[in-house]
Amino acid sequence: MTRDHPNISMNAKTFSRRRFVGGVAAALGSAAWPGRRVWAQAMEPVVMSGAHRASAGEYDSLVKLCFNENPYGPPESVMKAMTGALKYANRYGYPDGGIVQAIAAHHGVAPQNVLLGAGSSEILDIAGTALLVGGKKVVGVEPTFGSVYEHAAGLRADAIRLPLGRDYRQDIPALVKAVKDNHPNVGLVYLCNPNNPTGVIVTKDEVKELLDGIPQEIPVLIDEAYHHFVEDAHYATSVPHILAGRQVLVTRTFSKIAALAGMRLGYGLAPLNLMERLRPYSDNFSVNALAKWGGAMALQDTAALKRVRDDILQTRKKIASELEGLGYRVLPSDANFFMVNLRREVRPVIQSFRERGILVGRPFPPMLEHLRVSVGTPEEMSHFLEAFKEIVAGVRH
Ligand code: PLP
Repeated sequence: MTRDHPNISMNAKTFSRRRFVGGVAAALGSAAWPGRRVWAQAMEPVVMSGAHRASAGEYDSLVKLCFNENPYGPPESVMKAMTGALKYANRYGYPDGGIVQAIAAHHGVAPQNVLLGAGSSEILDIAGTALLVGGKKVVGVEPTFGSVYEHAAGLRADAIRLPLGRDYRQDIPALVKAVKDNHPNVGLVYLCNPNNPTGVIVTKDEVKELLDGIPQEIPVLIDEAYHHFVEDAHYATSVPHILAGRQVLVTRTFSKIAALAGMRLGYGLAPLNLMERLRPYSDNFSVNALAKWGGAMALQDTAALKRVRDDILQTRKKIASELEGLGYRVLPSDANFFMVNLRREVRPVIQSFRERGILVGRPFPPMLEHLRVSVGTPEEMSHFLEAFKEIVAGVRH
């Protein structure tokens, strides 16, 4: 999505990196590359949600359950830290709130193991550029968060996308086999945990099975954007694999739990030899002063983040049981969103919600009868439920 909004920057380093990526894309003729068009089509409903085009007043009145955002906004402490950082708005070099050190301490790694990005999307792009250029392939499942595949399409790198297995789980034996079958052309394995759009986790044993099953030199990107919402005891963060020196890149974001989506702050963690491959493509100036100070404070304000987590989980469980009560299956989610099986085509349903001022998730092929819904406030979810009864369940009042 970042590429939908061309970023004009005076910064020389930004320019050179973008020029490099642009140069690769231009050399490969990416504008004419059919993969781009496929992705453009897949993204079309996102754009159709129109949230970015709405006037400020209209936007405020919409019920926004489409991007897995945090409906509560940043904690007060974070707002205060960001407000304090406004005085650096005119500077390039300024105290950064110790954000990299804070992240490193939070995970028990060295600052050199941390790469900051303007959202974790930037880290996914960096990984794609660093690890896929030169005809390498990315291996992962579908549906999942498509950013790495989209970036790969722009680089004319192939993506091997495997269907989900039983119960919409990521099929680890199939992933291992695909990686081995395509070795040495695999540049990257992408594993979203919990997966977006399903909310289903990969267990810690399955992660180990994947890492042990594939050639050790192949990097595995484990996207933990929704880590904070997981309750399942079979799940664990993959950071210990980094400490063990495995070729693992874990990505995290402040967009969800810390409600900083609009501020753009995320990061990657990796062992030093993998970091050395990624860092040349990173841009030291992409993250702004407010995001740095806000992020550092968010890491400290654990009580505020726990409140968000508890509220979101409570609301998700309530709405899931109400939908189940109406006879619709909800996939077991460990995230701040869930999928409900409508047993009918999702596209017109999305449109009907839109007409009622409610933005819900786009279609996720091939799960075209499932609707992805982000968890909003209790009030927003009761609007959603009323609309669901009318649109999907055919209940009239
Ligand atoms: N990874 C996953 C799985 C996501 O769902 C998202 C956003 O929705 C991102 C990464 C990107 O988040 P951001 O760039 O805001 O950190």
